Amino acid sequence: MLDKRPRRADLLIEHLHLIQDQFGHISARHLAALANEMKLSQAEVYEVATFYAHFDVVKEGQTPPPELTVRVCDGIACELAGANGLIETLKTAMGDAVRVIPTPCIGACDAAPAAVVGKNRVAPADVSIVTSAINSVPILPAPTGFKTYLAQGGYALLKSCQAGDREREDVLGEIEQSGLRGLGGAGFPVARKWRFMLDAPKPRLMAINADEGEPGTFKDRHCLETDPHRVIEGALLAAWIIEAEEIYIYLRDEYPHIHQILETEIAQVAAAGLSEGVTLHLRRGAGAYICGEESALLESLEGKRGLPRNRPPYPAQAGLFGRPTLINNVESLFWLRQIVEDGADAYQKAGRPHFFSVSGRVKNPGVKLAPAGTTVRQLIEDYSGGMADGHTLKAYLPGGASGGILPASMADLPLDFGTLEEYGCFVGSAAVVVISESDNIKSVVRNLIHFFEDESCGQCTPCRAGCEKLSVLLSEPELDNELIGELAEAMREASICGLGQAAANPVVSALRFLKDEMA
Ligand code: SF4
Repeated sequence: MLDKRPRRADLLIEHLHLIQDQFGHISARHLAALANEMKLSQAEVYEVATFYAHFDVVKEGQTPPPELTVRVCDGIACELAGANGLIETLKTAMGDAVRVIPTPCIGACDAAPAAVVGKNRVAPADVSIVTSAINSVPILPAPTGFKTYLAQGGYALLKSCQAGDREREDVLGEIEQSGLRGLGGAGFPVARKWRFMLDAPKPRLMAINADEGEPGTFKDRHCLETDPHRVIEGALLAAWIIEAEEIYIYLRDEYPHIHQILETEIAQVAAAGLSEGVTLHLRRGAGAYICGEESALLESLEGKRGLPRNRPPYPAQAGLFGRPTLINNVESLFWLRQIVEDGADAYQKAGRPHFFSVSGRVKNPGVKLAPAGTTVRQLIEDYSGGMADGHTLKAYLPGGASGGILPASMADLPLDFGTLEEYGCFVGSAAVVVISESDNIKSVVRNLIHFFEDESCGQCTPCRAGCEKLSVLLSEPELDNELIGELAEAMREASICGLGQAAANPVVSALRFLKDEMA
């Protein structure tokens, strides 16, 4: 199976995918053979394979899972839409021949309740849709292809940069002036990140974080599904600025259709000579939310478990393979061409527009392009057709599972970096989940905490044990608010990475703003 593929350790996850894809599981014999081929210890191969949810490791004597798996999303938007009932219905309908399992957010919250059937993403409003999806070919959205993108003026900016018609400093200055901030969640100014890289020794590397896994987030999927060349051109521009010769795209495994799109489109870009001097590597995640955390992403790209690193050193100092590495989010790269072509002023005047993923109890969930600082009331009324029939706004998540939860009385707060922090919340990747009067806040919070409990990498005690204890405390009939508060503080102060630091946010803000609902 490996054929002439290199046996480098960083390709371990790619090689595990080969086996999983072909056999539907990875047996002990496969692990031993792979370890032998790659000259790695069996322990290392085993620990990596068992870290990722999309690998089914089958030990000696165990029965492999059925050939087909249906993964039903039990993320918050899907739970609101009835995912739990759907899992039971599907299990009964499918019998033993098909494995039906819950799975964390699959980035399809606009089609909730959603599922992945084999590799086909569907919105299974009823069982028959799942049944018919089993043998069908996935219906891929048609992206703007290479020729169309070129005809629309695409790659002209990149060509002018490569030809020396533009100075690096001019492009960098334009992005600096625009105030573009990273749209993956942290909101770090993009140009400042680039400047750090220019101070770092060569060779420099670049990684694109296409592992959006924050429940409620699906905007990067939208960028790559609709206009992948904007992201590729943005990436090549960034690589030109920081003089990187290799770009690694880390794509979440829940988006196999985007993998196909990128493979095709990147090949066309290379054939046209537009990526000359830069190698683009496309890598698959394997079902671990934590790999969206930048240092865990680097570990995963190196073929290891996605355990976040302690910092310093930061990725710009010692990132992928120990080299200075720039990590940019998909959407941040998506906007580069437009900002440089139209100018920083135009971007500022338009209100620094970006994509909001809107899901939950609205009439038309989906990706909404709106200025930074748009309120949830505007997103619901002006962009999403209003609340879903029969629903009234009770609360909302302004920034996915980790951004906290706010009541309807705070629906006019501008959703932007720095505007929600005083309420213990943040906009993060702008994943707005709308909750209605018919929803139970305690159940919502339990769903979110359960997600973190499941996705904690387990490396540090405050997060590993904290998430678990928080889950237990939330299942008590009477909540011990003081103890929950103490635990949340310990998790925030002592966890290694953002997952543990923010995991308690939903419960803390629910106790602060929706106390009656939590009683
Ligand atoms: Fe892992 Fe959680 Fe610690 Fe992050 S905070 S390193 S996810 S255990």
